[in-house]
Amino acid sequence: MKRILLLGGVTEALAIARTLGPQHIYSLAGIGRVPTDLTCQVRVGGYGGADGLAQFIREQGIDLLLDATHPYAAQISHNAAQAARACAIPCWALRRPAWQPQTGDDWREVADWAELTQALKPYRRPLFTLGREPLQHLHEIPPGQFWTLRALDVYPGNERCEVIGARGPFHREDERELFQRRQIDVLVSKNSGSTATEPKLEVARELGVPVLVLKRPVLPAVDRELGGVSEVLFALGNLI
Ligand code: NAP
Repeated sequence: MKRILLLGGVTEALAIARTLGPQHIYSLAGIGRVPTDLTCQVRVGGYGGADGLAQFIREQGIDLLLDATHPYAAQISHNAAQAARACAIPCWALRRPAWQPQTGDDWREVADWAELTQALKPYRRPLFTLGREPLQHLHEIPPGQFWTLRALDVYPGNERCEVIGARGPFHREDERELFQRRQIDVLVSKNSGSTATEPKLEVARELGVPVLVLKRPVLPAVDRELGGVSEVLFALGNLI
């Protein structure tokens, strides 16, 4: 029997954690909800970089590191690959497939905040679904633009930005109502590939609203890439 350290923070990671016995550890950064009903151990908080993570792996006698973090959480994924290498244990990763544009979609990829700001110029009422990052840029909102910003929790906005706190899964009817009520003329999104947040893209397609998609970060090579929960559970097989 192997001892697994599961790095989580997304829905699929929690689903995997629910199958793990008490010798395994489910690790969370501590920004979202912490489950209290798991059989496995739960650890909350960072390790202090790749070296700290490697130290924890050695101290706890971990045999397998399973990175099931968000596709945009690149730092922890790089730390995981580096720490596993340093400890000579395998690193597996759940790598969610990206969403692909469909007929009727008007998507444009942007590399970073500077490109995004340029691409937003023709629009008046963007809906940001990037998490908290846009909060740092509230003072940059140009006259004539009014932002709607959706994050996990509510934060103060300003006279040109309303912040909505909401957690998925989201439903198409509610997303359509949000787009119409806020008169959204452009959607700003990561390409998370999550079914829980996909309805906003369906509504953008339906209403002819363009989407500015923040490029996925480059993630490190790992020993094994798995595409979803069932693939992970099959791969873990009798290891757990
Ligand atoms: P990040 O930039 O890759 O990581 C920042 C730091 O947070 C890491 O260096 C690490 O601190 C700590 N950390 C991240 N995930 C951890 C985990 N599972 N267990 C222990 N420490 C962890 O990540 P982020 O983009 O800030 O996201 C933070 C967490 O939220 C991730 O676990 C991710 O799965 C989840 N999440 C992120 C997004 C997103 O859009 N980025 C969306 C949904 C959920 P140390 O260096 O001190 O170890």
